[in-house]
Amino acid sequence: MPRAFITGITGQDGQHLAEFLHGRGYDVYGMIKGQNNPRASKLQEEMPFVELISGDLADLPSLVAALQQAQPDEVYNLGAISFVALSFSQAELTANITGLGVLRMLEAIRMVGGTRDNPIRFYQASSSEMFGEVRETPQTELTPFHPRSPYGCAKVFGHDIVVNYRESYGLHASSGILFNHEGPRRGIEFVTRKVTNAAARISLGLQHELVMGNLDSKRDWGYAGDYVKGMWLMLQQDEPDDYVLATGETHSIEELVVRAFGEVGIDDWQKYVRQDPKFFRPAEVDLLIGDASKAKEKLGWEPEVDFPALVKMMVENDLALEKAKAGL
Ligand code: NAP
Repeated sequence: MPRAFITGITGQDGQHLAEFLHGRGYDVYGMIKGQNNPRASKLQEEMPFVELISGDLADLPSLVAALQQAQPDEVYNLGAISFVALSFSQAELTANITGLGVLRMLEAIRMVGGTRDNPIRFYQASSSEMFGEVRETPQTELTPFHPRSPYGCAKVFGHDIVVNYRESYGLHASSGILFNHEGPRRGIEFVTRKVTNAAARISLGLQHELVMGNLDSKRDWGYAGDYVKGMWLMLQQDEPDDYVLATGETHSIEELVVRAFGEVGIDDWQKYVRQDPKFFRPAEVDLLIGDASKAKEKLGWEPEVDFPALVKMMVENDLALEKAKAGL
């Protein structure tokens, strides 16, 4: 059986990827950080097939030990400080985990067996936030980077060091430049989930207001379940490379709000939504829209869930969760 090692296993993508790989007959190992991580037991309940190994992207020896234990064929580096807003207040931590963590993972692979004779294949979770103040629209693998947050800057370092290690040491290392992807497992701090959860709670009378930042920003939103398949496809290619995964459609945050509230039968959403400058980013990313033609052509990858279906899925999930929590 092929063996996969995933960092960020407790995150949205880690869980989707673990399920996907398990379904394909992989032995799945997930790296868990901390001495008493509260997300570990929940993960083990939901996915008992994942073998958890302790480690931290800030600690190279722990990465080496984890790889020695897992002996993986494929490594997926999804672990990161991934919330852009937090990266502004904890920029050094973000640089260390989201940026330098990639370098440590690559070094660990070189030490444990990422040579031409024994190639561990590596996937890096790069991000559309690297494009930031976009130089062209839509963005492709060749669009220059202009990150607008410490998170975006750290991802650019991670991306570049993957390219450098691939070229310098012949590692089978690929990066997916993924545009936003969401789903019921998205953390509540992220804007899509914040909106779908608020729409559900407001419709149930459990919440009265939704306080938002910039409603005009535009994003290219897909479904996480579609995107993890793309990650896996990248590692099945003979040659490593970089690929944009995106839907090619862009929607404003206001459109997201209108649609989510519409799902729960609220048309006068303005009554409930207030904007507060405290939720605006110090530097904004106004328009992200990706061109995934290369992934379509070379990987045969295409997103299956569209924006309306994604919002509906997330609102329905939040309605069920909130009803159960409130005993309704
Ligand atoms: P997520 O839900 O925020 O998950 C982040 C994961 O990183 C969590 O499992 C977290 O573990 C782990 N982590 C944090 N600090 C760590 C450390 N020091 N050592 C090891 N692991 C650590 O993120 P996601 O949405 O699944 O995204 C997965 C990856 O794709 C991230 O790298 C993200 O930046 C990138 N990405 C995401 C999107 C998107 O739209 N979702 C788009 C482009 C790129 P704990 O639970 O223990 O804190």
